[in-house]
Amino acid sequence: MSISTNYAKLREEIPKDVKIVLSAKTRTVEEIEEAIDAGAVDIGHNYVQEAGQIYRALKKKPADVRWHMIGHLQTNKINKALRIFDVIQTIDSLDKAVAIDKRVETAGRDIVEVYIEINIGSEFAKAGIKPADHEPFEEYVETLAGGISALAHLRLVGLMTMGPRFGNPEDVRPYFSRTKTIFDRIKALSLSNVDMKYLSMGMTNSYRIAIEEGSNMVRIGTAVYGKRECDIR
Ligand SMILES: *Cc1c(COP(=O)(O)O)cnc(C)c1O
Repeated sequence: MSISTNYAKLREEIPKDVKIVLSAKTRTVEEIEEAIDAGAVDIGHNYVQEAGQIYRALKKKPADVRWHMIGHLQTNKINKALRIFDVIQTIDSLDKAVAIDKRVETAGRDIVEVYIEINIGSEFAKAGIKPADHEPFEEYVETLAGGISALAHLRLVGLMTMGPRFGNPEDVRPYFSRTKTIFDRIKALSLSNVDMKYLSMGMTNSYRIAIEEGSNMVRIGTAVYGKRECDIR
């Protein structure tokens, strides 16, 4: 099936108030253009360099397309990232947030929306803040949110998590549920300059469960673009 058909089917299946961020890693400019033509408005990429190449090569850049950084952001790539991405979903420390905040104005921007990335399964090889490293974890994330709220050029608007990948996606449910609890706790703090709008959770194999557990933003690659030739995750 074609990318546009896949996207249309997915958009129909997923509730209207849940955003679909299309994960563009390993995809070509033509594939991404097809998705945009089919109505995709949120594009996610893991790598600054590749995202920049695609961004420059796109023939038309619809004003309503938003670019989300969903991969680990190295400090030395922040300046470049700020020229491409509208949203950075992968804040994993206060140091990183401060480093981005410092560079926002130089990049000619006023405010950048950011999410805290939580590695809810404390998985060794994945990015994001791990509960195993920071117990009590809920308090740790709340403190980080407070730190980000003091930064003038960042606006914390959500949480992002990958969640462990299981053969049976049902097994990831408790991890998603814990992430939703943390999301609600930060929201309930009503911190100034923080507007918890998005819980970015769920991928091709897990989005249905993620939505049942309160996700309102799923990040999808395979279900729309097909299998990746080599999985570089
Ligand atoms: C690749 C990727 C996705 C999409 O994964 P699929 O299984 O292809 O849907 C979502 N989020 C992140 C951070 C990714 O790296």
